[in-house]
Amino acid sequence: MRQVDHFLAESAGGGGGSGRTHQVWNPSTGEVQAEVALGDAALLDRAVAAARAVQPEWAATNPQKRARVMFRFKELIEANMDDLARLLSAEHGKVIDDAKGDIQRGLEVIEYACGIPQALKGEYTLGAGPGIDVYSMRVPLGIGAGITPFNFPAMIPMWMFGMAIAAGNAFILKPSERDPSVPVRLAELFRDAGAPEGLLQVVHGDKEMVDAILDHPDIAAVSFVGSSDIAHYVYKRGVAAGKRVQAMGGAKNHGIVMPDADLDQVVNDLAGAAFGSAGERCMALPVVVPVGEVTANALREKLIPAIHALRVGVSTDRDAHYGPVVTPEHKARVEGWIDTAEQEGAEVVIDGRGFSLQGHEKGFFIGPTLLDRVTTDMTSYQEEIFGPVLQIVRAQDFEEAVRLPSQHQYGNGVAIFTRNGHAAREFASRVNVGMVGINVPIPVPVAYHSFGGWKRSAFGDTNQYGTEGLKFWTKVKTVTQRWPDGGGDGSNAFIIPTMG
Ligand code: NAD
Repeated sequence: MRQVDHFLAESAGGGGGSGRTHQVWNPSTGEVQAEVALGDAALLDRAVAAARAVQPEWAATNPQKRARVMFRFKELIEANMDDLARLLSAEHGKVIDDAKGDIQRGLEVIEYACGIPQALKGEYTLGAGPGIDVYSMRVPLGIGAGITPFNFPAMIPMWMFGMAIAAGNAFILKPSERDPSVPVRLAELFRDAGAPEGLLQVVHGDKEMVDAILDHPDIAAVSFVGSSDIAHYVYKRGVAAGKRVQAMGGAKNHGIVMPDADLDQVVNDLAGAAFGSAGERCMALPVVVPVGEVTANALREKLIPAIHALRVGVSTDRDAHYGPVVTPEHKARVEGWIDTAEQEGAEVVIDGRGFSLQGHEKGFFIGPTLLDRVTTDMTSYQEEIFGPVLQIVRAQDFEEAVRLPSQHQYGNGVAIFTRNGHAAREFASRVNVGMVGINVPIPVPVAYHSFGGWKRSAFGDTNQYGTEGLKFWTKVKTVTQRWPDGGGDGSNAFIIPTMG
């Protein structure tokens, strides 16, 4: 059995940990393909000591030299793209092209991090008072940690460590125990790019390791992405321990379809956004909201054949639109939500339960599922399903279409499909959601903007990557300086200084 181990600095030593392991499935075959070692507080301590040893020198390395490591890392990822994508796809279950997209979107944050010398330039006011200048600089926090979900094992770690390390921090990554191999491979490539030992380490684990990270006095900041209840827990415990914490949670993104939308385009977009990656994306579009009965009926007519045409396959099948879900437990959970939706009165138009792929009967496949006449009182609407399930919620008018995503507990992403610029503008400005797409089904912001939802989709107040990411991984120091040419009568020494 292949073993996946922690990736620690040599000075941190090997071995140790909780002694427990976690099974890593191949979701396409339904077989266990590896075991990952689970760490504990003592192992984390060793990693933190190694990080502490290397961080001051890294912070003192000029930003251009830090950027050079990022450049070399970018080149190494590109050179290893095919191998990384194969490894990712084999553990996660997403198809190869989608795995490449996962890596590519992370790589874009590394490209942004290559511009760290420019991004870190501070602010300066010449002559803020007589002979007084003021300047502000962003300094690293020290040691940062990232705790990441299974669904983007390359992109989300790179969102975090790319920004944190470029800004001068050392970083400890705790990836999902369900697909741990790509994060380790990324750390190896980062070392090969010239990063000093201990700058980026990977510790595996579950709640025990997460708690150790949250409680560790030498970890200054924690970035978390995962489900909302755990995000909230991580936020509260981390903040209580005096850390800076950003914790992104779950989602239930709505796609509003106005009567004037190009329905063929919408159906095409929905096929990818609702079913791509088996719906296991926090920016998936699992709820479609047609406005008016005419739009709803026309959309449904077009959706049915498009969904029947979707090809479900093993992750290496080049013709497959999507692959299996990540674990047998997750398959059971998603199918359970379809049962619940049916019991709650939703119409199961296309039923993906009990789907079996010939030759891969043990794989964790779920057929594409379409539910109609879903209403807001149903728990299957209120909660995240995170599977290949599209729900139609019919809205009577535009106002209701704005209200639905605005009142939902999650507020990650939302999209509107229309040809009417005024309606789109009105929607984008009024909707109570963090990331909005206008005729764009998955509005994940590019690397030089930033990513973050609202409400129960994110706890803490700073987004991932871009200038927001830089803010999260640094603190501001402001210097007020005066270089007197002599003397000074000291008459104002006892009042609050003003610049007048
Ligand atoms: P998860 O919450 O199960 O796991 C996330 C991380 O938390 C993992 O590293 C895991 O080891 C750790 N963890 C698990 N149980 C824990 C516990 N009891 N205490 C402390 N830590 C624990 O999430 P997942 O299933 O890996 O990922 C899917 C979820 O992540 C979905 O809800 C999805 O919407 C969300 N997600 C959100 C975003 C976003 O940016 N908002 C992005 C991707 C995924």
